[in-house]
Amino acid sequence: MQTTPRLIGRRHLSAALLALPACAAAQLPGATPRQTTGPFYPTDWSGDADTDLVRMTGEAAQAQGVVTHLRGRLLALDGTPLAGARIEIWQCDARGVYRHPRDRAALRDPGFQGRGRMVVGPDGGFAFRTIRPVTYPGRTPHIHVLVDAPGRPELVTQLYVEGEPGNASDVLFNRLAPAAREMVLLRPQPAERIEPGALLAERNIILG
Ligand code: FE
Repeated sequence: MQTTPRLIGRRHLSAALLALPACAAAQLPGATPRQTTGPFYPTDWSGDADTDLVRMTGEAAQAQGVVTHLRGRLLALDGTPLAGARIEIWQCDARGVYRHPRDRAALRDPGFQGRGRMVVGPDGGFAFRTIRPVTYPGRTPHIHVLVDAPGRPELVTQLYVEGEPGNASDVLFNRLAPAAREMVLLRPQPAERIEPGALLAERNIILG
């Protein structure tokens, strides 16, 4: 008659062991999903390619569009900051034109830097001053992101804006499962304390 309690005990133990990793996994967000690099990855990083995309060296006027502070942290799946990783962003200007030889240079906003990059410090934090992304033919608004962290495969993804009407029909956005979409959604909020009239959009990027 000693086997029954032992069996129950083992079952409880097994259930407890199985439940622990499941609970731990549920509390950690998954990795940021990969997206295509697209045809407009910057070919030229010379000159002004810093974190302020709204101000271009040598241009009197700042970029057209709604100034948006994009901030977050580069993290591993376990929450460890990816110190020393490089992050690049690129996007079209307020007229829907990329700073790229294959896009329509004559229509370009000369005040928009088009791309920016930085190496993150010990806390993994990044901060860019850019514009709220706009739509261009065939795409809902998005910001392209590349992360190159030491010892890890490169991550390329795109960040989207919650509530944009174009999200419902965007092919690349809709390739993502709902949980993955959440990982690439921005919710820009007024950020008067940072800069009058500007927005703040925060999103951590997590490498698997
Ligand atoms: Fe694009």
